Amino acid sequence: MDRRSFFKYTGALAAGVSINSLAACSSVNEVSLGDVPFSYETDVLVIGGGPAGVCAAIAAARLGVRVLLIESGGCLGGMATQGLVAPFMTCFDSAGETQIIRGIFGEIVDRMVALGGAIHPRDVRAGTAFSAWITTGHDHLTPFDSEIMKVVLDRMVCESGVKILFHTSFVKPLVKKGRMEGAVLLTKSGLAASRAKIVIDASGNGDVAAAAGAPFVKGNENTGKIQPATLFCHICNVNYKEICADVEAHLHEFRKVDGVSYRALHWRVAEAEAAGEWDIARKSVNIYRGVREDEWAVNSTRISDVDATLSESLTAAEIEGRRQVQELMNFFHKYVPGCRNAVLKSSASTIGIRESRHIQGEHILSAQELLDGYVPEDSVLLASNSVDVHGGGSSASSTRYMTISAPWYGVPYRSLVPLEIDNLLVAGRCLSATSDAAGAVRVMPPAMATGQAAGIAAALCVTRGVAPRRLDYEDLHQALLAQDVFLG
Ligand SMILES: Cc1cc2nc3c(=O)[nH]c(=O)nc-3n(C[C@H](O)[C@H](O)[C@H](O)COP(=O)(O)OP(=O)(O)OC[C@H]3O[C@@H](n4cnc5c(N)ncnc54)[C@H](O)[C@@H]3O)c2cc1C
Repeated sequence: MDRRSFFKYTGALAAGVSINSLAACSSVNEVSLGDVPFSYETDVLVIGGGPAGVCAAIAAARLGVRVLLIESGGCLGGMATQGLVAPFMTCFDSAGETQIIRGIFGEIVDRMVALGGAIHPRDVRAGTAFSAWITTGHDHLTPFDSEIMKVVLDRMVCESGVKILFHTSFVKPLVKKGRMEGAVLLTKSGLAASRAKIVIDASGNGDVAAAAGAPFVKGNENTGKIQPATLFCHICNVNYKEICADVEAHLHEFRKVDGVSYRALHWRVAEAEAAGEWDIARKSVNIYRGVREDEWAVNSTRISDVDATLSESLTAAEIEGRRQVQELMNFFHKYVPGCRNAVLKSSASTIGIRESRHIQGEHILSAQELLDGYVPEDSVLLASNSVDVHGGGSSASSTRYMTISAPWYGVPYRSLVPLEIDNLLVAGRCLSATSDAAGAVRVMPPAMATGQAAGIAAALCVTRGVAPRRLDYEDLHQALLAQDVFLG
């Protein structure tokens, strides 16, 4: 397939896939503005200031177009800051030899390292406290400090000339004849509209694309199951030597039985369970050392069947997540050497959502393509992250983990171009992929790279006057290379 004809190919939707479209069940996608004022005129509107949205905004602004970035919270970084998710998964090839996710992701890492707020991934190896002692797929992670990340992102976004609006939420898309023309926003001073030539949905859940009428699948396309959610927490005052000694004395006991991973501290969980003091679905504790040796990120609460498109469901999950964090703290104090005096530094201000909507685009990335190391001709990034699917098996604690044998795989531009709606791109977790494939590319380094690609594509569409579906890949390819994106 040549590069000019790939847009004629539309990723065939797998038989039996349940495709949803909000526009099909209501008339939400053609909105009457009423008396909502047009307050913001821009070239590119980026909705969502998480890892993907930040990179999209910076990349577009560096190409000289006007960019408005809106974020419902009060800081940039999404799951990396508000969600306390850490560390960044790998940005290296599968052999652990070459850094393959560079570009704006690489700059963010370098600037955090310079401020003492991250450890460079080339110095972080699998099977250590930095990787929760996990070996497979966990080489060259990036431990970072979420407070330093907030200021680095503020600086980089401001330096690039992006206009940011915090405390501003997407309400409705403005769609005319199948084309995005902007969005209605909820600001602190009420409703306002933004007119934009291209809109990028970086909301994580695909709120914008779904509301505009792009088809989507929620959860797994075959089973409808959604991966469990997790409320992260960070703890400090941990005795590094003591916890390492306990885990390292039991490393030979790491195992997987019926899909359930028995990894760090499962022997302590067993003691707590025997005493009736463990009521969390996970059977071990995913605990990652941070930049400082006494500060650790804990990825261990587990809440099933959370629908991130419903406020009721998110609210219940956050309340249950905080309950589980308290249970974890009691567990640390009573059962874990090195954590007897640990202090809860913070629990995340928002529940961590692994999966919700997968927007259906010109190509639906499949896990098989990733596992085969397929590099489509319109690739906008290369990555090697493993397919990591939680809770899909017989118990909520089960995980399916598949590593790739090739050095890397490619993510095609077509997975950022939603079906049916023009002048819209998606980036980050909601990109067009099957549930399993999303289990690999949802992690932060590739999410940032999809954002950078979407931002570059949006800026080129503005300057060339073409719709994203018609963008010439050769043009995009050159612009990606010029922004230090590694494409092999
Ligand atoms: C439990 C868990 C563990 C994980 N572990 C890791 C890990 O160890 N390493 C790793 O690299 N990745 C990990 N990930 C994956 C990663 O954190 C996310 O998939 C990634 O952050 C996705 O980036 P994003 O920009 O698409 O979305 P998000 O990070 O979710 O950012 C979306 C942003 O959009 C904003 N937003 C949403 N809706 C609106 C709206 N309507 N209006 C305005 N703003 C809006 C949100 O406030 C948020 O800031 C994990 C995720 C979870 C949930």
